[in-house]
Amino acid sequence: MTNRKYLEFNAATGFPAGSCIRYECGICGETLASMPEHAAACKCRNIIVDADAGRVAVKDSSKMKAYETD
Ligand SMILES: [Zn+2]
Repeated sequence: MTNRKYLEFNAATGFPAGSCIRYECGICGETLASMPEHAAACKCRNIIVDADAGRVAVKDSSKMKAYETD
């Protein structure tokens, strides 16, 4: 069982990212890496991470959480 330490962030200025940081979708409940090898998206595609372009696209950022694992 890993601990989830939720991070505060402002979606208007950017999303936290790092090798220990993951995103959690509040709609479909899926989690994904903030720095995937190429690209990742949750099942409902609320969160799309395009690592190649260095972009995170979120449709509804109020339904998204970011957390750090240890
Ligand atoms: Zn989702």
